[in-house]
Amino acid sequence: MTYMRATDPFPLESAEQTKLHEFYTRLAAGRLATTRCTGCGRTAWPPRGFCPECASDAFEWVDLPLEGTIHAFTSQDTGMPAGFEGPRVFAIVKVGGHRIFSIVRGGGDVTIGQRVRLDPMRVTDDSKGAARWLPAFKPA
Ligand SMILES: [Zn+2]
Repeated sequence: MTYMRATDPFPLESAEQTKLHEFYTRLAAGRLATTRCTGCGRTAWPPRGFCPECASDAFEWVDLPLEGTIHAFTSQDTGMPAGFEGPRVFAIVKVGGHRIFSIVRGGGDVTIGQRVRLDPMRVTDDSKGAARWLPAFKPA
């Protein structure tokens, strides 16, 4: 997928840019991970470098299940950003105890409660040529 850098909506994923880079490393390997606070043990979504519950900045990585269910969704049929093709389905996917805002790939027919499986989406490389990934799902 390509798009104009002026409208680049994706985060910088490298270790020099974010201490949460492990999320993207695991995502590239087909794993969905998040942080667990080692102070109070709470698991966060999205991954966080600090804990809003106990203010600790110590965390470890844990993998989440690869499958979840559609909690809510909407379909964008027009007005795609440059480089995107429609329709594009955006959904809140329940995975473990978390609700993850994500893209559902593979067409426009989804239903509430439908099972979906992680299907990471590779987007345009960063300015240094490193691959970047976004979490996405597809019908299971
Ligand atoms: Zn905590």
